Amino acid sequence: MPRPILATVHPEALQHNLNQARLRVPDARVWAVVKANAYGHGIERCFDALRSADGFALLDLAEAERIRALDWRGPILLLEGVFEPRDLELCSRLHLWHTVHCTEQIDWLAAHKTQVPHRVFLKLNSGMNRLGFAPTAFRAAWARLNALPQVDEISLMTHFSDADGPRGIAHQVAAFEAATADLPGERTLCNSAAILRHAQSPLRGEGVSTLAADWVREGIALYGSAPDFPAGSAAGWHLQPTLTLASRLIGVQQLQAGDTVGYGSTFSADTPLRVGVAACGYADGYPRHAPTGTPVLVGGVRTRVVGRVSMDMITVDLSPLDAAGVPCGIGSEVVLWGRSAAGGMLPVDEVAASAGTIAYELLCAVAPRVPFAAS
Ligand SMILES: *Cc1c(COP(=O)(O)O)cnc(C)c1O
Repeated sequence: MPRPILATVHPEALQHNLNQARLRVPDARVWAVVKANAYGHGIERCFDALRSADGFALLDLAEAERIRALDWRGPILLLEGVFEPRDLELCSRLHLWHTVHCTEQIDWLAAHKTQVPHRVFLKLNSGMNRLGFAPTAFRAAWARLNALPQVDEISLMTHFSDADGPRGIAHQVAAFEAATADLPGERTLCNSAAILRHAQSPLRGEGVSTLAADWVREGIALYGSAPDFPAGSAAGWHLQPTLTLASRLIGVQQLQAGDTVGYGSTFSADTPLRVGVAACGYADGYPRHAPTGTPVLVGGVRTRVVGRVSMDMITVDLSPLDAAGVPCGIGSEVVLWGRSAAGGMLPVDEVAASAGTIAYELLCAVAPRVPFAAS
């Protein structure tokens, strides 16, 4: 028998979450962001559930090829554009739309020989200072692209640094409006947090009236996590978990008061207590920094991790089950996040917050050695 750990993707939850975006931004087209192998879920495992999206957005050219190999004929957007001139040949061949965020990418396009002109998304750096043209350079970049025979349509794009938090997006929206208001072209601004929190805010520009604009780029909310946790929650935003990481107990220890658990003896029992040993550790992608107290479900009952996470195992407190008279032992189901067969649910956001990280990182980090359930 293989080691009992298993990851399961829930296609109907992906569909549900995509429909939630449709309800929130009915007039915008929705990019399903499937970078990082669909946030760790596996592009091929998600594709059918997400095929009613208007397009797929990602940044790895090999992932774009995988989506075309699934016979997707619709739009694919490279969120970081091309990395070197010869990538443009793949864009021509596979009809990939690509972001243009720097002068070099325009130079490469100008030298590219193609029968088919490209659709490009010109990116403004509206304040995040990661990718994109500065506001003062934006128009010149647009004019240069507009003069190229290699370019068909130019769309306008920016990305928010604080759509999930207290600083908000007003300063970036103002920068976007100032740089683009009288330029033609479709617009895309919103990531998940902006879809949930800001999509109805006004936006000045050709053909648009709200921030949802022509296209939204939805990533983490598709995967059932609230980007603004703990201010918001998946349940509060009507999102369902799309990935369950589950395992089983492979050992049980009876501790006496004063006994310790695991490396470094970081947990010590103050009363007699049963501890379960689950087959899941940091080599499976479970966060090593998850401290004592991190939530976990055993047999559908919420309890906590105790002691340090090790490479292949974690230890969990069985006293809530024992107190409630819920039988558990070797073979009992342990849900690290997601849905329990016994009916409970543990949001990945809670586990991430306890470990001092975000759900994005946990979902992307599920290790190659973890098998996925056939769906
Ligand atoms: C990853 C990414 C998104 C999606 O972000 P979420 O927070 O997961 O919704 C949108 N736009 C760009 C440019 C991205 O890189």
